[in-house]
Amino acid sequence: MENPIIPGINIPVRTIFCIGRNYAKHAAEMGAEVPKTPVVFLKPLSTICFDKDKVELPSNLSNVHFEGEIVIAIGKNGKNISTEQAKDYIAGVGCGIDFTARNLQKEAKLNGLPWSVSKGFDNFAPISELVSFNGQNLSDLEIRLSVNDHLKQIGKSVNMIFSIPTIISYLSTIFTLYPGDLIFTGTPDGVGAVIRNDIVKATIHSLNCSVSVQIA
Ligand code: MG
Repeated sequence: MENPIIPGINIPVRTIFCIGRNYAKHAAEMGAEVPKTPVVFLKPLSTICFDKDKVELPSNLSNVHFEGEIVIAIGKNGKNISTEQAKDYIAGVGCGIDFTARNLQKEAKLNGLPWSVSKGFDNFAPISELVSFNGQNLSDLEIRLSVNDHLKQIGKSVNMIFSIPTIISYLSTIFTLYPGDLIFTGTPDGVGAVIRNDIVKATIHSLNCSVSVQIA
């Protein structure tokens, strides 16, 4: 299988990095502490899907949650990137949904096990078209998520615990970043479960980008 292409910036997806607990109110609703360093996990390539796709609920799973998130795509190789330089490594900005099998994640947390299974089902990471980055104010983005046109989440990037440049810089101290790497930057509060036939939509109005999927 070819790597899926990121709409809008037309580069293949490489690694999907995700940040957990990046908004204090969401950490609180999960009963988690506010982290001192970014909480990082990965999703497999098979989670990527696009606007108007369907997200199938695995038959044995209940309590699959939506998490609307601002998504960043990396545009060039980098290691040990400073926060000041971080913007130079961004190819595009958009939004996505980090679907999470919350029961499996809770069980994993309780047992000190990885989150991969709870985050990793097919199509569990829909992404919007990404807008080419040309200096947009990264601390003035607002992610909204609605289910069947009912607004469930609003998050402002200014309220992130770790800013987008900080996340890029932090990740690059561990991982060499490459073009096509995606970063899901964490979800605000208001997460909740989906059921079959729900239409789940994430939007960043100021960038005119959105992704809408139907739960099947
Ligand atoms: Mg998330």
